[in-house]
Amino acid sequence: MNTTTTKKTKTDGLTHELSRLIGKENVLHLLEDRICYSYDGSKQKYLPDVVVRPQSAQHVSGILRFAYEQEIPVYPRGAGSGLTGGAVPVKGGIVLDFTQMNHIVEISPEDLTATVEPGVITQTLQNEVAKHKLFYPPDPASAPFSTIGGNVAECSGGITGLKYGVTRDYILALEVVLANGSIIHTGRKTLKSVTGYDLTRLFVGSEGTMGVFTQITVKLLPLPEKIETLLAFFATTQDAVQSASQIIFNNLLPRAMEFIDKSSINCVKGYKQEIQIPAEVNALLLIDVDGRESSVKAEASLIEKIVRENNALTIASAKSSKERNTLWEVRRAISPALYNIAPYKINEDICVPRSRILEILDRIASIHKQYPSLKVASFGHIGDGNIHVNVMYDNGEQQRALAERMIEEILRNTVEVGGTVSGEHGIGNVKSAFLSLEIPPMELGIMKDIKQLFDPKGILNPGKIF
Ligand SMILES: Cc1cc2nc3c(=O)[nH]c(=O)nc-3n(C[C@H](O)[C@H](O)[C@H](O)COP(=O)(O)OP(=O)(O)OC[C@H]3O[C@@H](n4cnc5c(N)ncnc54)[C@H](O)[C@@H]3O)c2cc1C
Repeated sequence: MNTTTTKKTKTDGLTHELSRLIGKENVLHLLEDRICYSYDGSKQKYLPDVVVRPQSAQHVSGILRFAYEQEIPVYPRGAGSGLTGGAVPVKGGIVLDFTQMNHIVEISPEDLTATVEPGVITQTLQNEVAKHKLFYPPDPASAPFSTIGGNVAECSGGITGLKYGVTRDYILALEVVLANGSIIHTGRKTLKSVTGYDLTRLFVGSEGTMGVFTQITVKLLPLPEKIETLLAFFATTQDAVQSASQIIFNNLLPRAMEFIDKSSINCVKGYKQEIQIPAEVNALLLIDVDGRESSVKAEASLIEKIVRENNALTIASAKSSKERNTLWEVRRAISPALYNIAPYKINEDICVPRSRILEILDRIASIHKQYPSLKVASFGHIGDGNIHVNVMYDNGEQQRALAERMIEEILRNTVEVGGTVSGEHGIGNVKSAFLSLEIPPMELGIMKDIKQLFDPKGILNPGKIF
């Protein structure tokens, strides 16, 4: 007689238990499926034991209650576009994939709110509310694929941060499943509430380490009637940075104000035939103003005057939404185009007080001189002081080590000038070594105590932040 003995794996055991809780159609256990959930935008790889796709808060609650009892790590995951390893299951366990909880529960034009499940894609929400002439301003470059749940967990920002703020500024209320499976509700669907501690704000930016969001209520604004876009060309970085300061100094608050340095310009030169960038251009400012048609016209012409007074070589303005898209396509193309410089990059998202932007750019240039084999390109949301510094390097351990050393120096200098090591991307596991550069021991201790309160067994996204 032919007998086969099958060894029961951890995956088999978890699959059995979780299928019982939420149905086997919502549990993925095959190796090929688990590999798809082993990485995120940080390009690390850690295999989960099992992946679950909850359909409701009750599913999430059941899964967490089970994981809490068994002390199994749980990793919430949206679209996996995070750049600091937030969603990678560094200790195996269960990945909670939220992409199926992707319903817009309610859009309320009268209340200026929308309530969504966490797996809704950011751009889907933006487009749906726009049908009601409403506006959800947080606009990370990943909006076409990242989820609102991921945005809330990372407190994502984007190009509209200067005028409209970041995700934190739009979150009114949350339904959260705690580590032990309890379901709580924070905040109200009101535009104001100061009743008790602000637990909602505590959860925003908590990177999946304190609780799991199953429903999110966001604040909306009326959709601006018109957007006008200007692209200003400068011979020097100083002129571009000075122009940006002068615009704000003159009481103007553009919807977006993006700085692009020489190396980044070189990467996208020729990308769009319509945009010719002369050789003497060493910096660009891409500026959006929005509002009512008449005010937009007046603001745009004031901005044009200011940048001319600050030595802009030329200024291009978009005459149609097609031209506007072309200008922004160039900006969006920078990040992938950087791979034309070198095959590997580390993308940092430092943020400094606006008055220190030029200083940090100078410091980065000086640091770069000590690492001549590496390439550096900087661009980003200059209005917020949030600059994406990209350190590019060729293949090889030695080059990687050099790039990491250079990054550490940049982050130290950022903190020295009063800045923060992460303006947008969060800490995850990629940047946890740098947390203490910015956060003093006592404050760090308080953060750890809060984590302990919400997650005493350490099952929620272990290995992240701290
Ligand atoms: C090309 C590109 C451009 C980008 N541009 C920007 C940008 O402009 N601004 C910016 O801020 N970021 C940007 N990012 C980073 C990334 O898109 C954001 O951090 C985004 O918010 C992650 O969303 P996600 O759905 O992919 O989340 P994931 O990467 O899946 O997860 C991110 C974190 O959220 C947690 N999480 C996910 N869902 C939940 C939930 N329901 N409850 C609790 N925790 C949860 C995870 O555990 C993890 O810690 C960019 C990334 C890429 C690849």
